[in-house]
Amino acid sequence: MLIDTYGRVATDLRVSLTDRCNLRCTYCMPEEGLQWLAKPDLLTDDEIVRLIRIAVTGLGIEEVRFTGGEPLLRPGLVGIVERCAALEPRPRMSLTTNGIGLKRTAEALKAAGLDRVNVSLDTLRPDVFKTLTRRDRHRDVLEGLEAAREAGLTPVKVNTVLMPGLNDDEAPDLLAWAVENGYELRFIEQMPLDAQHGWKREGMITAGDILASLRTRFDLTEEGSERRGSAPAERWVVDGGPHRVGVIASVTRPFCAACDRTRLTADGQVRTCLFAREETDLRAALRATPEDPSGAPDADADAEIARIWRLAMWGKKAGSGLDDPTFLQPERPMSAIGG
Ligand code: SAM
Ligand code: SF4
Repeated sequence: MLIDTYGRVATDLRVSLTDRCNLRCTYCMPEEGLQWLAKPDLLTDDEIVRLIRIAVTGLGIEEVRFTGGEPLLRPGLVGIVERCAALEPRPRMSLTTNGIGLKRTAEALKAAGLDRVNVSLDTLRPDVFKTLTRRDRHRDVLEGLEAAREAGLTPVKVNTVLMPGLNDDEAPDLLAWAVENGYELRFIEQMPLDAQHGWKREGMITAGDILASLRTRFDLTEEGSERRGSAPAERWVVDGGPHRVGVIASVTRPFCAACDRTRLTADGQVRTCLFAREETDLRAALRATPEDPSGAPDADADAEIARIWRLAMWGKKAGSGLDDPTFLQPERPMSAIGG
C-alpha cells in the first residue's frame, strides 16, 4: 500500500503523459507556451506501463487517470491504455483532456479499455473560448465531447474553471447545457498553479459564488461528497434529480484530509500533492534496471521501485499549505505536473 504518516492510503494515480499542449488557457499557461521537457527526459511508453504495473500489482492503485499537458498529443496513448487494461487487477482508467482530437480517437480509446473521460470546457461562447484559451477551437471541443458520449466513455464529465470578468456569468447556462446533453458538470476553483503566477485570492470565483449563481436558476440539494475514486467534488442534485453538478473547492474547502492520490509526471517524478515542492525520481531507478527485452518483470528491480514510491508517500504533507502565509507556489505549473 501507499500509505502516509496521517494514515491516508493512495489508490488513485494521476499520470501525466506530456507537458505539451495545443491550447494556452490563461489560468494555466502563458501565451508563448513553456520550455517543454526534452524527449530523452520523458518516460517511454514501456516505462509508463511498467510503473503503472508496479503501482497496480504491488502498491494498491485501483484507478489510473491519464492527463497532461494534453494527453491526446501523446502518440502512444491508445497503446498505453490497451496495455494497462490487460493488467491484473485491471485498474479503472480515465482521461482528462481538452477534447481536441477526441472526435478521432474516442472509439479507439474505448476499444482499448478506457472507461471514461473528463473534458475541460469553460464556456459555451466561441469568442470567450478564444480569449480564454488563445485558440479558436471551440467547435473541436464540442465535437470531441459528443464523440466521447457516443463511444460510451461515460459518464462524460465536463471540468469548468470560472474566471472573473470572462465567463463567471455562465454557470447557469453551462449547467442547463450539460443537463440537456447528458454531461456531468464540475466546477473547479482556480488554483495558484499557473506558470505566470497570476493567481489572486481576491476576486477569484469561489465555490460559494458558483453555487449562488446556479441557485438563481436551479434548485440544488446537497448530496454529500463523492467518494468513488477519490473525486473531490462536492455534489448537488439538480432540480430533484437525476442530474448532478459538482464543485471542486480546492481553495476555499480543501479536502486534503481525505486525499487518496499519488502523481507521476511525464519525466518520471512522483509527486504526493499538486502543491508539493518536493519530487521523488523514479526514472533513475527505472533506467538503472531496464526490463528484459521480452518484457518479463524483474521482481527485485520492481520491488526496489515500489520501495522508493512508498517512501515518497510516507513523506506526504498533511495539506496543500495554501492557507499558510508562507505558502510558495510549486515550481512546476499545473500543465507540467498533470492536473
Ligand atoms: N489539457 C487537459 C485539460 O485541459 O483537461 C489536461 C490537463 S489540465 C492541466 C487538467 C485540468 O486542470 C483542466 O480541467 C484545467 O481546466 C485545470 N486547470 C488548469 N490550470 C488550473 C488552475 N490554475 N486552477 C484550476 N484548474 C486548473
Ligand atoms: Fe492545456 Fe489543459 Fe493547461 Fe488548457 S488547462 S493550457 S488545455 S494543459
